[in-house]
Amino acid sequence: MPYVLPDLPYDYSALEPYYRAESLEIHHSKHHGAYVAGANAAHAALQEARQADDFTSLIGLEKSLAFNVSGHLLHSMFWKNLSPDGGGRPEGDLAAAINDSFGSFESFRSHLTEAAVTVPGSGWGALALEPRAGRLVVEQIYNHQDNLAHGAVPLLVFDVWEHAYYLQYRNNRADFVGSLWNLVHWADVESRLAIAEGIAVEVHS
Ligand code: MN
Repeated sequence: MPYVLPDLPYDYSALEPYYRAESLEIHHSKHHGAYVAGANAAHAALQEARQADDFTSLIGLEKSLAFNVSGHLLHSMFWKNLSPDGGGRPEGDLAAAINDSFGSFESFRSHLTEAAVTVPGSGWGALALEPRAGRLVVEQIYNHQDNLAHGAVPLLVFDVWEHAYYLQYRNNRADFVGSLWNLVHWADVESRLAIAEGIAVEVHS
C-alpha cells in the first residue's frame, strides 16, 4: 500500500486546551485514517480497471484519487504545522516573505482567517507559495482538492471541515480558527518555504 497514516509528532493531549485530545484522536485516527485507506483503495481500483480494460467507473475513481490523496497530504501537513509550543509570529525569511506578499503579518493573518472561516461547506484555508509569481498567496480550498491554482505549494493549512472542530467548538468555526493561531509551528512553515523555493519554476513552465 503506497500510503500509511503517519503518527502525530506529539501526544493527543498535547494541544490542549485549544484542541482537545478526543477531537484530535478522532480526527487523526478516524478521519485522516479514512483518507489513507481511500487513497490506497483508489490506486488498487485503478490498477484493476487497467488490468480488466474496464473503465466504466473511471470518473468516480479519478475523483476518489484526487479527493483522498489530497486529504492525506493536507492532514499530514496540518499535524506538523501545529505544535504545543506554537503560536506567536514567524521570524526570518518567512516573516520577510509574508511582509513582501501581504504588506504585514496582521494583513496576512486577517486574510487567512477570513479565507478559512468563509469556506463554503467543507475545505481548508492555506498559505501557499505561487512559484511563477514568486509570491505567497492565501488559498481557499474546497473539499481537499478544488479551487486550487496549479503549481502553488501549500505551506500552512487550516482544516475547517466540520469534523475538525464540531466536537469541541460546535458551530463556532471562527473560534476554532482563532485557536489554531495559538498552535502554529512557524519553524515548520519556514522550513517548507525554503523547500518550496527550491522547487524549480521550470517544472510548471
Ligand atoms: Mn480533517
